[in-house]
Amino acid sequence: MRPPSSIHERRVLVTGGAGFLGSHLCEQLLARGHDVLCVDNLFTGQRRNIQHLLGHERFEFMRHDVTFPLFVEVDQIYNLACPASPIHYQHDPVQTTKTSVHGAINMLGLAKRVRARILQASTSEVYGDPTQHPQNEEYWGNVNPIGLRSCYDEGKRCAETLFFDYHRQHKLEIKVARIFNTYGPRMHPNDGRVVSNFIVQALHGEDITIFGDGAQTRSFCYVDDLIDGFLRLMDSPREITGPINIGNPNEFTILALAELVIELTNTKSKLVRKPLPHDDPRQRQPNIAKARDLLDWQPRTELREGLQRTIAYFDDYFSRA
Ligand code: NAD
Ligand code: UDP
Repeated sequence: MRPPSSIHERRVLVTGGAGFLGSHLCEQLLARGHDVLCVDNLFTGQRRNIQHLLGHERFEFMRHDVTFPLFVEVDQIYNLACPASPIHYQHDPVQTTKTSVHGAINMLGLAKRVRARILQASTSEVYGDPTQHPQNEEYWGNVNPIGLRSCYDEGKRCAETLFFDYHRQHKLEIKVARIFNTYGPRMHPNDGRVVSNFIVQALHGEDITIFGDGAQTRSFCYVDDLIDGFLRLMDSPREITGPINIGNPNEFTILALAELVIELTNTKSKLVRKPLPHDDPRQRQPNIAKARDLLDWQPRTELREGLQRTIAYFDDYFSRA
């Protein structure tokens, strides 16, 4: 990669760049004039997510597993590499913990060596099945350390620990974003997350699978809003480290989400009940006062509008398949 020609044009590394969020982030960074190095082992990411970027003169793709060290010259690092959907991260739980923990150590080591600013894609899962509602950043969480979700939850918690220790011990410039459920185009159609599952089932006229009684809640953020939050956090003053919640505080039951998807797709699909997965959090809603205050950020896309765009994406995806 060539050296940056101005302070505004940076060499940016995005790990997990071929995934759902990563591919949108790469796009937005290119649109802002930066050089982008996308690193991904394509475990859950797809080449088609970045196909349209491959010919771009400031975009580079490197197939690499972040559990192994990486030697590159960059100014900023967004560390997103990690499977995010429960069925994907539970497929090989040992590799999931390694990706979060060894991946963080390798990326923090790289940041230290080249003095890059580094942002961690953390998660609302660090709050576990929360006893405090809504969740603010001061809440320490209620996480099972030995359950089926622990490889992800504890891996992400350990990654946060490493980020703050590198910050205190090595004066590294860190940013930690705690992302709440985010959805939108380029979610993997088979990743089992609730928004993609419901839309895919509705478009195929299949039963819509409600786990448990459907009264559990989530707060869904549209991908464009999330990426805007990421960019603002990365460019915020040095002393703003986070952790900072990035999510949409509008909370819905899973049943309400299913009904909205049925309405928007005009499907004849019926609701069916399936057992609730282990340690499935009962409720989740971000308190985003910090993001509003420190980043002047708030989500702008209503669930109905975001779902319409996501449905259009999957409609097109299946018509091409
Ligand atoms: P995703 O599965 O689409 O993307 C993750 C990407 O990381 C994939 O491209 C995958 O191939 C890559 N990857 C996985 N292991 C890797 C490894 N060892 N080395 C290199 N690449 C690897 O998921 P996403 O929704 O885009 O999530 C991106 C990040 O955001 C993840 O760290 C996730 O934990 C975090 N996050 C996402 C959400 C959400 O709702 N989407 C919520 C909270 C946190
Ligand atoms: N869920 C559901 N049906 C599905 C997939 C998920 O009812 O087909 C529920 C799941 O049990 C959870 C919520 O939807 O309560 C969100 O699940 P997801 O896997 O998207 O994310 P997470 O649990 O990590 O928030």
